[in-house]
Amino acid sequence: MVIQRKPEWLRINLSEGRSLDYIKDLLNKYDLNTVCEEANCPNRMECFSKKTATFMILGSECSRNCKFCNVSHGKLQDVDLNEPENVANAALELGLKHVVITSVTRDDLPDGGAGHFANVIKAIKSRDDRIVVEVLIPDFQGDEAALNKVIEAKPEIINHNIETVSRLYPQVRSMAVYARSLEVLKNVKKMNKHIFTKSGIMVGLGEKEEEVMKVLEDLRDIGCDFLTIGQYLTPSIKHYPVVAYIPPETFEKYKKEARKIGFKFVTSGPFVRSSYHAAEAMRSQKN
Ligand code: SF4
Ligand code: SF4
Repeated sequence: MVIQRKPEWLRINLSEGRSLDYIKDLLNKYDLNTVCEEANCPNRMECFSKKTATFMILGSECSRNCKFCNVSHGKLQDVDLNEPENVANAALELGLKHVVITSVTRDDLPDGGAGHFANVIKAIKSRDDRIVVEVLIPDFQGDEAALNKVIEAKPEIINHNIETVSRLYPQVRSMAVYARSLEVLKNVKKMNKHIFTKSGIMVGLGEKEEEVMKVLEDLRDIGCDFLTIGQYLTPSIKHYPVVAYIPPETFEKYKKEARKIGFKFVTSGPFVRSSYHAAEAMRSQKN
């Protein structure tokens, strides 16, 4: 069944808050993309005011075609060699304390773009090594040498989203492999146990509660530290439909269960996105 009408808890007033023009101008100046702007994320006011933003590197066209995602799949762009410096400049001008870097998936590149990720991390750290860098990486098709490039650049957090339950991968994430995504996170810990690992899942795609619990257990089994759980919202009628709007109490239940099995920090709620309250997870570990 496809549900069209959003429940009360998902309706927000987007006109609230101060203008985002300054941020948009800055991104244009450095020719950068943020997920925050591209996805019209409803949390922008909150995140920018808390000095967090998510930059999307390696172009705006993806080599994969996940059914839930609004990123386009046209001609893959050349890697912009100025991007590492531009991201670092923008992060400094915005006064960001916690920078999240993500990308489209670039299966066409020999290292999947891992070297470019590393260059962005190094560019930020060379300006100010107090800035916390969180990378939300693709699976690099399971290439451990590629993953190691990112690890050697020493981001504080490596996130790889598991996105949904194993059963729904063929419909929702057909070019990804559930076990391979777990392996990516497992390998991070194997290569550098001091880097925090993080993953996220969307709910409302037709998964059962026991399937969600299985994902949480699988993630804890490979030592995943941080977790996000958010409501899936379909970008358009051509995308995978919303099968259910999950009520806030179920998000709370998932959060309690996740904490019980050992996640160090969990963000769970209808508006939660992978980078929502990203800095808090890190702060919680310093207290
Ligand atoms: Fe940007 Fe993530 Fe915050 Fe949305 S939740 S505004 S994508 S940092
Ligand atoms: Fe979107 Fe990532 Fe899937 Fe590409 S790999 S379509 S960016 S979710």
